[in-house]
Amino acid sequence: MSMALQLLNNPDPVYSRLSPALIESPNEEWLACMVASWCAGQGVLPDYMGLEPDQFEHLKAAYFQDVTLPEQAISGSQLDFSRMLEKEDLVNLLRRYSKPDTLEVEWIIAVIVAGCLGSDHLWQDLGLWTRSQLSAMLHYNFPELAAKNTQDMKWKKFLYKQLCEAEGLYLCRAPSCNVCIDYPKCYGSEE
Ligand code: SF4
Repeated sequence: MSMALQLLNNPDPVYSRLSPALIESPNEEWLACMVASWCAGQGVLPDYMGLEPDQFEHLKAAYFQDVTLPEQAISGSQLDFSRMLEKEDLVNLLRRYSKPDTLEVEWIIAVIVAGCLGSDHLWQDLGLWTRSQLSAMLHYNFPELAAKNTQDMKWKKFLYKQLCEAEGLYLCRAPSCNVCIDYPKCYGSEE
């Protein structure tokens, strides 16, 4: 089913109000899902969805100007970025691979970084509705990076493994994933 058709058929009232009649960028669809989940108290995204306040204003003005959005997370989620020592590295990794000239990419990076502080699968922490949405969002915004995930690694694990490899750190206990006892933690279903 096309995105536009899914949109029209979707019963979620918040999502339906948020979603533009015609989708110009697939990012609008994914952002609408995340905003709707966030407004319903789902996912781990904190106040302003993890964006800077001015980024959040820009997001609202660009796509959601007909809807009154809260600024605080309904879920009450508060993320402690002070314990996220890798935050800058993660932002830089995503920026390095981001598709140029994409309006939404800094917002997408901000929510992904915030989502990485959650304890569920990344798509759940972001408030996306399926893992395949997250995969599509990553392939769309960071095509060369996402293409490296040839073994369909869990997305959070994949991102952190890229950070380790970029720093020349090899923290894994096994020489290869195929012989690693932690294999189920890094691969397997994220549904
Ligand atoms: S499966 Fe093992 S070796 Fe592979 S990334 Fe995970 S921890 Fe590292």
